[in-house]
Amino acid sequence: MKLDRMELADCTTPEKLLHALLKQMPDLPIPVPIEDIAAALDIHRIEPLETDGFEGGLVTFADKSSGTILVNRQSPRQRQRFTVGHELGHFLNPWHVPVDGAGFRCTAGDMRKFGASSDDRAARMEAEANRFSAGILMPDTYFRKDLRRLGGPEMEHILELSEKYETSWEASARKYVALHDEPCAVVFSRNGSVLYGVRNEDFPFLDVRKGQPLPKGSVSLTSELGDDTCSGWEEISAHAWLSDARNASSLAEQTFVQRDGYRMTLLYAEVDDAEEAERDLE
Ligand SMILES: [Zn+2]
Repeated sequence: MKLDRMELADCTTPEKLLHALLKQMPDLPIPVPIEDIAAALDIHRIEPLETDGFEGGLVTFADKSSGTILVNRQSPRQRQRFTVGHELGHFLNPWHVPVDGAGFRCTAGDMRKFGASSDDRAARMEAEANRFSAGILMPDTYFRKDLRRLGGPEMEHILELSEKYETSWEASARKYVALHDEPCAVVFSRNGSVLYGVRNEDFPFLDVRKGQPLPKGSVSLTSELGDDTCSGWEEISAHAWLSDARNASSLAEQTFVQRDGYRMTLLYAEVDDAEEAERDLE
């Protein structure tokens, strides 16, 4: 694979980097060969990271002429791929310089940062590296084509896409919700407590917070399925999940039961036509 880094020289956001990079790879194979892409962009080595508590790292020079990416090899393959994309995002972005000067070391928590306040420089770099990684592993144009082919929201589609793109269930679900045309949201939880939730623009405001118990009566809380099993869609009261359910005429919920108490919940709202029409006019 041959890529021209000069084309990326002025790209200071993940979106600009992705645009300039994807233009150079019109026939990108899926799953995306992330290691080959890194190699074509002056990442000379990908080595195991032995330091406990970190998922990835980047060793490079001040001028970023070349670099070595470090990856936690104990993690599942999908997560390792995300880490390579994340570190490549740090490497390619000219304003990403390590806070303490010793190279990047990134934790599993860093790999989950998607938003950051503008005065938190370190968190902003992490969030940008994550946007880059999700965008290179699951390019929007490819992913949207799959969404159109698959149709209405279904947990099975998230699992299928995760296999196709070789990305984690979590990363695939985030992308799925973000790009889906229907109003949907996904909530990640463990042992009955919310970890976090994300929704797309069309989904009503979802006010779940970390540590909050799963809502009473929700499928996520009550489902007694075995590990690695997915419930069907169940209609539930919109009030179970939404504090302001005025514009949701109905809410459906589907839960995927994972190992070790983890659950991934897909929510699908039927939004009132009046609200929808109002938004279309805006
Ligand atoms: Zn990082």
